[in-house]
Amino acid sequence: MKDLAEPGFRDSVDLMFDRAVRLMDLSPGLEQKIRVCNSTYTVRFGVRLRGKIETFTGYRSVHSEHMEPVKGGIRFAMSVNQDEVEALSALMTYKCALVEAPFGGAKGGLCIDPRAWDEHELEAITRRFAYELIKRDLIHPAQNVPAPDMGTGEREMAWIADQYARMNTTDINAKACVTGKPPHAGGIQGRVEATGRGVQFALREFFRHPEDVAKANLKGSLAGKRLVVQGLGNVGYHAAKFLSEEDGCRVIAVIERDGAIVNDEGLDIEDLRQWMNRHEGLIAQYPGGKHMPDGPKALELDCDILVPAALEGVIHKGNAAAIKAPLIIEAANGPTTFGADEILREKGTVIIPDMYANAGGVTVSYFEWVKNLSHIRFGRMQRRAEESRSALIVEELERLSADKNLGWTLAADFKSKFLQGSDELALVRSGLDDTMRTAYQSMREVWHGRDDVTDLRTAAYIVAIDRVAKTYRSKGL
Ligand code: NAD
Repeated sequence: MKDLAEPGFRDSVDLMFDRAVRLMDLSPGLEQKIRVCNSTYTVRFGVRLRGKIETFTGYRSVHSEHMEPVKGGIRFAMSVNQDEVEALSALMTYKCALVEAPFGGAKGGLCIDPRAWDEHELEAITRRFAYELIKRDLIHPAQNVPAPDMGTGEREMAWIADQYARMNTTDINAKACVTGKPPHAGGIQGRVEATGRGVQFALREFFRHPEDVAKANLKGSLAGKRLVVQGLGNVGYHAAKFLSEEDGCRVIAVIERDGAIVNDEGLDIEDLRQWMNRHEGLIAQYPGGKHMPDGPKALELDCDILVPAALEGVIHKGNAAAIKAPLIIEAANGPTTFGADEILREKGTVIIPDMYANAGGVTVSYFEWVKNLSHIRFGRMQRRAEESRSALIVEELERLSADKNLGWTLAADFKSKFLQGSDELALVRSGLDDTMRTAYQSMREVWHGRDDVTDLRTAAYIVAIDRVAKTYRSKGL
């Protein structure tokens, strides 16, 4: 009988950290300072609902304040616990360092099944949780800036921002206390899609390097690659939609809470998502594919790229050996346990690690925070100036062509594209693309440049820890 016992999520992250620091030259004191989680605040609060007082438990964990504010999502799920928020806050520290977002790491969570409550009840609960955190500066534009995570989205972030504004009526930067808000409430274009878009940009960057693709025993471009996606929520839906509609990938299976839908021809992601919206988030009866009641088993399907985009610990010692995908991109946080990671490394599976793969969310959150502090939308000053300059070039080309009877005509779509100045969405996507490319290259340099580093995760940890260590050293620690 194989020993399938595994460390918890927090220990799993620490073991991955330890594997990387063994290859680095850090003093034991500094190593320990970076590893430990600085603080975790637990709050239990009551809300009067349906004629009685319901008590909820929430957490806000701050892993590292080497840069402030600290940043990290707030998760609403029944599985939330201290171990989980601490693990996720540690990952946030490393993620921010890897993509050069100037934040320390934090995370929050509330033990709740959001589907069990009506909208106005959820608002009362969210506002009360936010109140508890705001009064302790655990939500604050300069100190601690949450964002959405599993079970939360724009709506909850708008409630939190409003709660902060009510409690800090003269704070001109109040909107910067939380990111992931809807655009009409101080949010930024492109934040909802950001994490999934980042997964797409990460894969595009990976496939720009044929040597890396070969390490995963794959060939060619993204077009035609067969994907299995777990979780069709914010991250999974956007990643699957963009990769299938824009890059020619075929999503052959989607795994959800109630099993998997499999179709070798490729699933229509938009159609499936619309079906889920009409059927309480369920996929079992979806007519566009075959239903597999044992969802997790579909992680083992034969495919080119596996995209876990739901929750942690789904690839574990019990199924790692059976995973056939030669390439895994961790869209979720912590989907692979430490034990599974060792098995997959041994097998030669290439894993694009969570800390990089899902960093699109925090990257665009960073842009949103900057927008809130600067009180102006991106592109507002330069868009029309850019368009005027492009128009000058187009007019001059047309004049030259007519004067010299060259008979040139500019293609209509070139003209319309060239004449369009960059709006906020275009700038956000450009900034995200640049971030994902740059961060990949920093990991890649370590992956290829050192004989003792054989995987992208260890490379990512080395880059991130080195940056955090430098910040601590420059502070005199
Ligand atoms: P979400 O709540 O929008 O979606 C999660 C999806 O997973 C849902 O569709 C849910 O039904 C499904 N799911 C839940 N349990 C499942 C199970 N046992 N099997 C299969 N499917 C299951 O959450 P999200 O925001 O998309 O987050 C997903 C993951 O991505 C989490 O690990 C989160 O920490 C990570 N992440 C999210 C963001 C973000 O911007 N939202 C950023 C970085 C990382």
